[in-house]
Amino acid sequence: MHFEQSCIIITRLRYADKYSSYCKSELKLSTLVLNADASPVSLLPLSIISWEESILYLVSEKAVVLEWYEDWFVHSERWSTPVPAVMILKNYQKKKNAVRFSKQNVFLRDNYVCQYCSEQVNRKFATLDHVLPVSLGGKSTFENCVCACSKCNSSKGNNKKIVPKIKPYKPTYFQLAEKRKKLGWEPQHPSWEYYLS
Ligand SMILES: [Zn+2]
Repeated sequence: MHFEQSCIIITRLRYADKYSSYCKSELKLSTLVLNADASPVSLLPLSIISWEESILYLVSEKAVVLEWYEDWFVHSERWSTPVPAVMILKNYQKKKNAVRFSKQNVFLRDNYVCQYCSEQVNRKFATLDHVLPVSLGGKSTFENCVCACSKCNSSKGNNKKIVPKIKPYKPTYFQLAEKRKKLGWEPQHPSWEYYLS
């Protein structure tokens, strides 16, 4: 089977109601990738690849398909295949346990709680606050950034005297991974729930 990106037709027949909200992103990330030990290659972020990558993994025999989308096919003039929903790597990939600084990882460390007023912040509305403002030389690091509600963030402004209740720190990979698991996942295929439980 050859991967011919130029003349590919995508067919999506139907999708269960529970998962319909993910249809908009169906052309982006589709396939959960498991390590050779059957755990996700990465939790931070979750190891999900696009359908194009999943076809490349399939063709290059880098991974084996465990689950397919029953209602999602890609085909060209010469071949057709359902899109893989879950794949497992043939060779174990050493896990990277380094924690990368990112806004999402700061929010996760702080459990989506505003570090100034202690209110729970909706995941969509959380903001990243630099304790020492960028304009005063503050860096984007775990030690200088916290989760804040937009109200506290804007009222703090450039006032460096307002500080968070808990001194920000660099979390370990395991601390963040545990918190991420508790948040739960948004499975794009029903089988993911099994592999992520
Ligand atoms: Zn607040």
